[in-house]
Amino acid sequence: MADKDQRIQVIVRKRPLNSKERQRGESDILIQRSPNTLIVKEEKVKVDLTRYIEEHYFTFDGVYNEDVNNEQLYRATVQPIVQAAFQGAKVTCFAYGQTGSGKTYTMMGEASTPGLYLQAANDLFYYRDQYYPKIQLTVAFYEIYCGKLHDLLNDRHILHVREDAKQNVNIVGLQYKPVDGVETLMNIISYGMAARTTGQTGANDDSSRSHGVLEISLREGRAVKGKVTFIDLAGSERGADVSNSDAKTRFDGAEINKSLLALKECIRALDQDKKHTPFRGSKLTLVLKDSFVGNCRTVMIANVSPGINSCEHTLNSLRYADRVK
Ligand code: ADP
Ligand code: MG
Repeated sequence: MADKDQRIQVIVRKRPLNSKERQRGESDILIQRSPNTLIVKEEKVKVDLTRYIEEHYFTFDGVYNEDVNNEQLYRATVQPIVQAAFQGAKVTCFAYGQTGSGKTYTMMGEASTPGLYLQAANDLFYYRDQYYPKIQLTVAFYEIYCGKLHDLLNDRHILHVREDAKQNVNIVGLQYKPVDGVETLMNIISYGMAARTTGQTGANDDSSRSHGVLEISLREGRAVKGKVTFIDLAGSERGADVSNSDAKTRFDGAEINKSLLALKECIRALDQDKKHTPFRGSKLTLVLKDSFVGNCRTVMIANVSPGINSCEHTLNSLRYADRVK
């Protein structure tokens, strides 16, 4: 179980082999050795063409295997810090990983196994109703795609980011919808999720190239008292599209790469209590500035695929997560 007083937790979630991977006869190369340790069995080939296995050991604040469902994951990682939002904390949860590794499954989940959004919504309204009746909740949901912000609750309207004289970062015109209960909130989230994938046309109609940011604010009057933000990040492998033959894909790739690197640096700065946080390094980190200063609690979930064909991406994700802290 993660320590709720820790400002940053980095955890890994392994999904089960899917039917395609099974059909291809892919082996599962990930072994959970302890509640904190994951081993990757990488297959290598020597010059004489004999094969051998190289084992890579990784240690994190938590490792969750395919037997852990969304509710258990929530209880162990995000639930212990959600209540801190009522005491003014900025609670932020990232899902990182290659496309298909389970980021959206973790965040949104499926009807039979709702993800972190619904689990957190249940608790937020429970705490509000029980202990903080004056708090009102609002929701905003936007996407960062090709370095531009789109409001998912307002027709994918393009939004601009401004820093005011006090260096507060504002997203001009972003819709904050008041929500009075779990059902309203979930309806709005579903609406926004639909806007993520249907809003674009052409070959780049693909949510794997965008970061989806869901922001639930706790307000008293006009003042924001606390905040819970979930970020379903762009597929980490997209950041490697920088040598693709298509110029637009290359541009998107460079943008994604820049934002994921900036994110790593910002979380590191938070962890090391550095005075300077390089949040201006990308649009993503700029709009999340609030989440990197002061009273904050951050959970980074690195999602990984277990199949042997994903080995390289899985190692990349684990190395990224390893360097965040
Ligand atoms: P991503 O958002 O990272 O691209 P998805 O969340 O869409 O990946 O997951 C890809 C597929 O794998 C989906 O069909 C999803 O249902 C399945 N999946 C992901 N994680 C799990 C899990 N922990 N258990 C069962 N199925 C999962
Ligand atoms: Mg997804």
